Amino acid sequence: MKEFNIIEDFFKAKSIQRKDVIIGIGDDAAVTRIPQGQALVTTTDTLISGVHFLADTAPHAIAQKAMAVNLSDLAAMGAEPAWISLSLSLPEVDESWLESFSEGLREHAIYYSVQLIGGDTVQGPLVITITAQGFVPFEQALTRSQAKPGDSVYVTGTLGDAGLGLQIAQKKCVLDVQLNKDYLLNRLNYPTPRLLVGTSIRRIASACIDVSDGLVSDIKHILKASECGATIHVDKLPMSQALKESVSSTQAIDYALSAGDDYELLFTVSEEQKGHLETTLASANVHATYIGQLNGCVGKLELRQADKPYEYNLKGYEHF
Ligand SMILES: [Mg+2]
Repeated sequence: MKEFNIIEDFFKAKSIQRKDVIIGIGDDAAVTRIPQGQALVTTTDTLISGVHFLADTAPHAIAQKAMAVNLSDLAAMGAEPAWISLSLSLPEVDESWLESFSEGLREHAIYYSVQLIGGDTVQGPLVITITAQGFVPFEQALTRSQAKPGDSVYVTGTLGDAGLGLQIAQKKCVLDVQLNKDYLLNRLNYPTPRLLVGTSIRRIASACIDVSDGLVSDIKHILKASECGATIHVDKLPMSQALKESVSSTQAIDYALSAGDDYELLFTVSEEQKGHLETTLASANVHATYIGQLNGCVGKLELRQADKPYEYNLKGYEHF
């Protein structure tokens, strides 16, 4: 590689300055301060070109997605983000690529008040690893393991959009309506971490996870950790107008059930906390949809449509 200190040259000047960062980029390691009464929450996600994003994805989108998927994991813990560090593996030093990537990262850093506190670059295939850290008040972290039979299951936003977006990006699906196409591609390339929901439901939800691999896969993590089963009503799954207008209703349900990359939050709430949930979501001006109920059939996920079992065909969706 050319004589560049990529993190210093392309990222340092664009980094925001938080008060809790004592030493940021430029020394051997970063030194930060954790607020009193708060626990530190840490998560890491790696995105590999050709595996987690298409090789021709705009660098701006790659940066924002790499950050969003990490912030989504913090959201799922009920945490508020503070710092990230970045490990970049690049095939070559492409200055215009780095300009666009670092700009994407900077925009999200400002929007979410997150400071880049360090990083490393190596030469190799295009791989982006971000470690994100945030805070949650002691003993208020949301986990996967505290759900109980009888709890209601909710999900934020809409499901299946990124899955169809991927089919469009891969040219496996052609849409006539430009507005729908743009919307679905945007949901794939620019996911929104549900941070406000995560922090709002800290003392309300019994369990929480972000939907990264698809509803069916991800809810099973809660069922396993909490030793519960679930009944999900497929007619209640929240789906966007764009998804519903673009594919048949059966295909739309299959996308909503199995497609990944939506980064919505799936959470459970006990009967006693339901009223509290409604007022909290309303005052935070965020929305979540009730989709089903937990039960005591450990590890079993039952899908129902109207009053019948729903025949679910995984072949309907091809994972990238
Ligand atoms: Mg996750």
